[in-house]
Amino acid sequence: MQISELYTLLLLMLLLFLITSLIRVFIERKKLKREQFQTLTLIKCSKCGYTEEREFQTGDYILKPEKECPKCKAQTRIFKIYDVKVPRK
Ligand SMILES: [Zn+2]
Repeated sequence: MQISELYTLLLLMLLLFLITSLIRVFIERKKLKREQFQTLTLIKCSKCGYTEEREFQTGDYILKPEKECPKCKAQTRIFKIYDVKVPRK
């Protein structure tokens, strides 16, 4: 009798653990859906300090040469690659 009670208790604890972990996964997934990220690339001219922001494109890397600066015609380079939070529509 006592052993079966122990088993029931163990089973209940296991069930409780399963439910709480399931809830945690569910909440995390919801959070992930709410928070979307966009990767941006910041291009900077080292001569005059002109900066331009555009969406990240495959093949982008820091210090990659980009088009010429519209202000002073010098070579611009990728200065920063970063993520920004995009609010859900
Ligand atoms: Zn410039």
